[in-house]
Amino acid sequence: MDKIVKDTLTIALSKGRIFKDTAPLLKAAGIEPLDDPETSRKLILDTNRDDVKLVIIRATDVPTYVQYGAADLGVAGKDVLMEHGGQELYELVDLKIARCKLMVAGFPDRPLPTTGLKVATKFVNCTRRYFAEQGRQVDVIKLYGSMELAPLVGLADCIVDVVDTGNTLRANGLAPLEHMANITSRLIVNKASMKLKHAAIRELIAHIQAAVDQRNPS
Ligand code: AMP
Repeated sequence: MDKIVKDTLTIALSKGRIFKDTAPLLKAAGIEPLDDPETSRKLILDTNRDDVKLVIIRATDVPTYVQYGAADLGVAGKDVLMEHGGQELYELVDLKIARCKLMVAGFPDRPLPTTGLKVATKFVNCTRRYFAEQGRQVDVIKLYGSMELAPLVGLADCIVDVVDTGNTLRANGLAPLEHMANITSRLIVNKASMKLKHAAIRELIAHIQAAVDQRNPS
């Protein structure tokens, strides 16, 4: 007799804001992790479904795991996807969580220099693209965190960072200057997985999309 083998799905997620906001959407799709990633040291979490596993990784690594097929699906911010480039990925669902804006920020009372502008950011690709599209020449300085410090100590004229409430900028005497993009988290899928595990992925996506629509009535 033929055995029906269920496709297994691996979903890549980061801890913190994204996990907290994604968990209810996964629950709506019938998926609940058996451990809490905030307290567990496990990097691979089993779920209540033996065909679904979660891998817990850094937010910026999520597109890479999905690109290479180490995870079939993932949840990543649009900022992270824009920076990664999105090769070998489909961006299938806007989860409408972790909303923020990618902005240029600097001193509110100091116009940006028109030549020799120095921009500190971890979003080097997005930043180069944004200023190049406007024909503005910039020196992009790569940082890994605490971007707000850079203008304060004269390392850069401005920064490019994600802004939610703007409190972090304000607390450091900075303000948003230019809007680059609206950001939300997206459900991404490896292109090969989408072909090979079509039915399982379609079913999961349908449940998640329904949960997103229910939480965000238009
Ligand atoms: P804010 O509410 O603007 O003070 O945000 C505080 C810090 O949290 C910012 O500097 C960002 O680096 C980070 N942040 C805010 N919202 C997000 C988000 N949706 N995704 C990733 N990082 C965020």
